[in-house]
Amino acid sequence: MARIDLVDLAHSYGGPAAPEDSFALKPVSMTWRQGGAYALLGPSGCGKTTLLNLISGIVAPTTGKILFDGVDVTSLTTRERNIAQVFQFPVIYDTMTVGQNLAFPLKNRGVPRAQIDARVAEIAGLLDLEPYLRRKATRLTADAKQKISLGRGLVRSDVAAVLFDEPLTVIDPHLKWELRSKLKALHRALDLTMIYVTHDQTEALTFAETVVVMHDGRVVQAGTPEELFDKPMHTFVGYFIGSPGMNIMPAEVKGREARINGHVIALNRSYDSLPVGAKIEIGVRPEFVNVAMPAPGLLSAQIDRIDDLGRARFARLRVGDVKFAARVPVGFAVPADQVGLIFDTSHVHVYADSHLVEGAP
Ligand code: ATP
Repeated sequence: MARIDLVDLAHSYGGPAAPEDSFALKPVSMTWRQGGAYALLGPSGCGKTTLLNLISGIVAPTTGKILFDGVDVTSLTTRERNIAQVFQFPVIYDTMTVGQNLAFPLKNRGVPRAQIDARVAEIAGLLDLEPYLRRKATRLTADAKQKISLGRGLVRSDVAAVLFDEPLTVIDPHLKWELRSKLKALHRALDLTMIYVTHDQTEALTFAETVVVMHDGRVVQAGTPEELFDKPMHTFVGYFIGSPGMNIMPAEVKGREARINGHVIALNRSYDSLPVGAKIEIGVRPEFVNVAMPAPGLLSAQIDRIDDLGRARFARLRVGDVKFAARVPVGFAVPADQVGLIFDTSHVHVYADSHLVEGAP
């Protein structure tokens, strides 16, 4: 396995002369730790597969470099880079047994028989495939076939990294949960660098130590699930991670105060030098705003509906024209129309042109 460095890496399917804002991957520099478990998360079309294919060598970058353990691999093939990949749909040989399928990547590289048998037994054990080892793959369900694909991706211990591109797409919903947790356990057991592409935040947050969030061809934040939740560096991260996502509202911000519809919300930090002409917004997660009876001094909101998510109830509201979500405290009897909002000011963030502004203590 390897540490992977991306240096000013960018890709345009329209060639280098295309304008930069049309690039499928805008310039990015970042490091993927050796042995790390990463998820690459974002909506359809944001550039996840492009970035994965650049790392594996399926696509050659328009600009920039890729280093594995400090060695420039930009012009090397996937095989030369020593990458294992698992795709959305099973890639297996139907005529072979499950055991032969798992052994294939090792046999192909001339690994001695005894080593192959030991490793196949280990991987089959981790994926609960032992009962099927002697069965022909052709008769198995789509779920089982995809497990074999996962096994083939994980069977070599000498790969620079294992890349997964939405590997649970074909898996039955009730098995997804089990396999997600299993992949995390596999990462711990096998100590491989893993990069997992998905548009599903639950998959990303369950699997990864570091989640890399992409939006419109850019990496907008790489952080632990807690960091993405507590301190979204970009309004897109706030909105995309969490359910419901973060509330984002235009506001006038000066010093330690944000003003919305003439109402003042106190801020924990001071914002005296915001960029001139930037779009200023505040962001606060629904978990950090409580509804209360309307009262002087509370920002008032109109109730649309109440969502009961079992673990919590959230009111769906409107503050002026802006949609808003807030927690309904246990035992609170929600009035029919208007409520007041109580903010936990330590969790109110300020954004300028969608980027977090740190503020001064
Ligand atoms: P999805 O989850 O739908 O696979 P993604 O986040 O993986 O999306 P990419 O497949 O990397 O996104 O696509 C990023 C952008 O590049 C999209 O606008 C897409 O239309 C474009 N694109 C992808 N592959 C090609 C290609 N071979 N030729 C031209 N444009 C492409």
